[in-house]
Amino acid sequence: MFNFEDAGNKGKKHQCFVCGLQYESLVLMNEHIKTEHDEGREYIVCPVCNYCIRCLKTHFKTKHPSRIMPTGHQTKVAVWFDYKTGKNGKSRRAKKPTFRSGEFVSKKNGKDLHYRSGMECEFYECLEADKDVESFFAEPFKVPYYHQGEWHDYVPDLRINFIDGSTEIWEIKPANQTHYEQNKAKWASMNNYASNYGWQFVVQTEVGLNKLKGKIKKQYQLLNE
Ligand SMILES: [Zn+2]
Ligand SMILES: [Zn+2]
Repeated sequence: MFNFEDAGNKGKKHQCFVCGLQYESLVLMNEHIKTEHDEGREYIVCPVCNYCIRCLKTHFKTKHPSRIMPTGHQTKVAVWFDYKTGKNGKSRRAKKPTFRSGEFVSKKNGKDLHYRSGMECEFYECLEADKDVESFFAEPFKVPYYHQGEWHDYVPDLRINFIDGSTEIWEIKPANQTHYEQNKAKWASMNNYASNYGWQFVVQTEVGLNKLKGKIKKQYQLLNE
């Protein structure tokens, strides 16, 4: 099934680069990544050896040095605009992609929300500020979906309750990661589930984030007039 050019690492521990779990073989680790983690955000698949990686360039340099890098393939995970906090407490754009995660303190919800990327954190900031939003919950529930002959669980990023009584379920994704087959299977199940409750399911990308920022700006301008 897998055709690793770097097989022969028997007996060594292989550590998942996303969560740190250790595996006896690369094959097991690779399967773990494909089932547990998020393609595009946490890993990409090498088109040559089918192996889960973070950066195509680095991977080709070390594993396939004689091959030419394919074009039209996502080359890096985490295309979020990720920020690091500097010494002065101000955030600045990180030079390298980082896996920023942490707790967002929400007064609106009366509790902290966990975020796994800079983009998620920005969405939280917006929802906290948005006057149409009553409350919001991270990873609110799971929905079963069928993919490649097996059932999996899909956990959407956010449930948002609006002041007008409506509810939306959001998945936060960079626009260039919305075409993956696994995502399509997840979102089809989620659409079904949401419509049963009269909720709307929305895949939010950078476009949605910018719209949201614009909307909030207007809300605050109106207040100050
Ligand atoms: Zn893992
Ligand atoms: Zn490869």
